[in-house]
Amino acid sequence: MPTLFAKIVRGEIPADIVYQDEHVTAFRDISPAAPVHVLIVPNKVIASVDGLEADDEALAGHLLLVAKRIAREQGVAESGYRLIVNTNRDAGQEVAHLHVHLLGGRPLGLLLAGGGAQEP
Ligand code: 5GP
Repeated sequence: MPTLFAKIVRGEIPADIVYQDEHVTAFRDISPAAPVHVLIVPNKVIASVDGLEADDEALAGHLLLVAKRIAREQGVAESGYRLIVNTNRDAGQEVAHLHVHLLGGRPLGLLLAGGGAQEP
């Protein structure tokens, strides 16, 4: 089954795409949590960071370099931004297609919304 994000990569579902090349696609999150909220995904389906293989090393690095490029293009490189990669259940990963959230455009506050080392 193609993932939601695979359909966006292939243009089968509309999205506000800000960058695309042969390896990755970046598009605005449909429910932005900050003035700049872009998702950067590999064009091939990898379920999560946990699904990365040794062969994906260059792709994983490319995701970060594309994030840097988009941060500059979106005007948040200097003010600052946060990259988040939710992985599996406890992180709240909703879409089983590896994606990097790029958030910026306002002070982003603490790293985590709540909890600590203890169970909630
Ligand atoms: P996760 O919780 O898996 O890390 O993040 C999934 C993200 O995908 C969420 O921030 C959610 O708003 C975004 N999202 C879900 N469905 C769509 C969609 O159809 N289009 C776009 N552009 N973003 C989506």
